[in-house]
Amino acid sequence: MSTTLINVAYLVASVLFILGLKGLTHPRSAVRGNLLGAAGMAVATVVTLFDPQISDDLTLVFAGLAVGTVIGALLAVRIEMTAMPQLVALFNGFGGIASVLVAGGALYVAMGAGSGVLPDAVRDALPQAATTQLLVATVASGLIGAVTFTGSLVAFAKLQEFRFMRKVNGFPGGQVVNAILFVASIGVSAVITMDPTQLEMYWVLVAIASVLGVLLVIPIGGADMPVVIALLNSYSGLAASATGFVLQNNVLIIAGSLVGASGLILTQIMCKAMNRSLTNVLFGKLEAGGGASADEVYAGKVKSTSAEEVAMLFDTAQRVVVVPGYGLAVAQAQHAVRDMTRILTDRGVTVEFGIHPVAGRMPGHMNVLLAEADIPYESLLEMDIINPTFEQVDVTLVIGANDVVNPVARTDPESPIAGMPILDVDKSRTVVVVKRSLSPGFAGIPNPLFAADNTLMLFGDGKKALIELNQALKEG
Ligand code: NDP
Repeated sequence: MSTTLINVAYLVASVLFILGLKGLTHPRSAVRGNLLGAAGMAVATVVTLFDPQISDDLTLVFAGLAVGTVIGALLAVRIEMTAMPQLVALFNGFGGIASVLVAGGALYVAMGAGSGVLPDAVRDALPQAATTQLLVATVASGLIGAVTFTGSLVAFAKLQEFRFMRKVNGFPGGQVVNAILFVASIGVSAVITMDPTQLEMYWVLVAIASVLGVLLVIPIGGADMPVVIALLNSYSGLAASATGFVLQNNVLIIAGSLVGASGLILTQIMCKAMNRSLTNVLFGKLEAGGGASADEVYAGKVKSTSAEEVAMLFDTAQRVVVVPGYGLAVAQAQHAVRDMTRILTDRGVTVEFGIHPVAGRMPGHMNVLLAEADIPYESLLEMDIINPTFEQVDVTLVIGANDVVNPVARTDPESPIAGMPILDVDKSRTVVVVKRSLSPGFAGIPNPLFAADNTLMLFGDGKKALIELNQALKEG
C-alpha cells in the first residue's frame, strides 16, 4: 500500500477518534462514541500492517496479536466492574512500558546494534538512522514511559488496596530526592542525545525514571488518587505520542496527543472538583495520620435502624435524595435502587440523586452504574446543583458512600481530605446510611456523619438492604 494511501487511512482513523471523544461527552451518545473510537483503532491497526516500514514477515505481529487478544478477552469477561479502575491503571502502565521498549529498540537499530539484539522483523520496522528527532523522541518516550509504568503499578496497588500499601507512604525530604532524580534524568537524556553510541545510558535513564515514577505516586493518597490516575493516563498518551515521532507514525502521534490532552483536561476537571491545585496534589503535604480515632468519633453515638423503620420514614417524606458511592458498585445495588425509586415516585415522592465527581473509583463511575439500571439521567444532580438544597430534603439515603459525604473535609484542616468539597448530606432532615460496618472509605479516616444526631445507620450489604427496604415499602 502506498504511503499516501496509508496516511489517508490514518487521517480517517484520527477523525474517528475525535468523533469518538465527542460522543463520549454525553451519556446518550457514549456508546456510539466508544464504537467510533474502536472503529478508528481497527482502521489504524489493519492499515499499519500494510506499511512498507513493517517487515513482510508478520509472524511476530500475529503472535503478539493472538496473545494480546486472548489475555484481553479473558480480562474483559472475567473482570469485576469494581476492579475496572485498577485495570485502567494497568493499561496506562502497559502503554508506558510499550513506549519504553519500542523507543529503546529504535535506538538500538538506529545505532546499528539491532542485529542479534532484536528479531529481524522488529528491526526492519524501525528507523535506520539516529537523527536528532529520533534521539529527542526516544529519550522522551523512555523517560515519560518509565514514569508512567512504575507510577501506574503503584496506583494499581493503591486501588487494589494491598495491605502493604497502607504502610508505605512518602518520607520527609522525598521531594528533594524527586527533584534530584528529575534533574539526573534530564542530564542522562542530554548525554544520550549528544552521544547515542553509549546505548546502556538509555537503560540508566529508564531506571532513574522508574524510581521517580514510584516515588512520585507513593505519597499521594487521601482522596487524591483520581487526579493521579487521570494524570498517568495523560502521561501514557504523551509517551505514545513521543514514540510516534520515533517511528514517524502519524496516527500514533495524533492518538497519543489526544490521550495526552484529554487526560490533562480530565486532570484539571478532577482538581477543580477536589478544590485542589495540581501542584498541591503532587507536591502537597504527606498524608496526615492524625485526626480523631474511630472510637472517639463513634463510641456510644451511632444509632442503627432497620428496613421497616426506614420504610416508615419514607411514608412521610416528600423529597428523597439518594447519594451513591463505591459500596453501591461493590454491592451491585443499582437495580434495587431503581426499583425503590419507582416505588417512591409512584407514591408522589420526588427522588433525586446527588452525584459527587469522585464517588466510586473512576470518573463517571456512578453515572455509568445508574445509567445501566435505566435511572433517568435528568434525576442525577451534580454537587454544585444539589448542595444548596439539602436543607429541604426529608431523607437522604447514602448507599455505600463515605469519603464524599465526610464533613471533616469542611472542619479539619489536618485531614487528608481537607478542602475537598463534599455532598452536604448532614444538612438534610434525616440521613440514612447503608453500609456493612463502620469501616472507613478509601481515605482511611472515620466519618462523624455516622454519629450525627440526624443519622441512622442501616447496616448490611447495599443490595440486600435495598431489597429488604423495597419489600418493607411494598408491605407498608
Ligand atoms: P469510599 O471509598 O469513601 O467508601 C465506600 C464505602 O462503601 C466503604 O466505607 C464501605 O463500608 C462501603 N461498602 C463496601 N462494600 C459495600 C457493600 N457491599 N454494601 C454496602 N456498602 C459497602 O467511597 P466514596 O464513593 O464515598 O468515595 C470515593 C473515594 O475513592 C474517594 O476518597 C475518592 O477520592 C477515591 N477515589 C476515587 C476515584 C475516582 O475516580 N472516582 C479513583 C480513585 C480513588 P463497609 O466496608 O462498612 O461496607
